[in-house]
Amino acid sequence: MTDSLFSQIYKGQIPGKVIYEDEHCFAINDINPQAPVHILIIPKKEVAKVSDASFEEIPLLGHLIYISKKLADLNKLSNNYRLVINNGAEAGQSVFHIHVHLLGGRSFNWPPG
Ligand code: 5GP
Repeated sequence: MTDSLFSQIYKGQIPGKVIYEDEHCFAINDINPQAPVHILIIPKKEVAKVSDASFEEIPLLGHLIYISKKLADLNKLSNNYRLVINNGAEAGQSVFHIHVHLLGGRSFNWPPG
């Protein structure tokens, strides 16, 4: 199976700087930021989308949210930020390797587009 775009970035096969890494996940800055802070938190394990996740992946999914919080703190987002996971093309997903968008540094509207 071909590595996802994000796995290729992680492996240094295409350009991109890994700004955080632990045993289970890594993070990169989004190439097309939608806020002053726009970080993608990505599991090392390739799961295409949340709706494909299994029971065994519950800890991994929780880990991604927890690390998002840690990165929000490191970026001094003052407890005001948005976490987004797009699931499926019609919901806006364009890279089919689960990732949490951490967006912060500006105000956000609701509902999202
Ligand atoms: P999605 O649309 O799947 O929820 O989010 C994918 C995100 O990946 C988009 O926000 C897009 O800007 C970002 N992205 C796409 N290609 C690259 C890339 O080559 N490098 C980085 N850092 N981000 C990318």
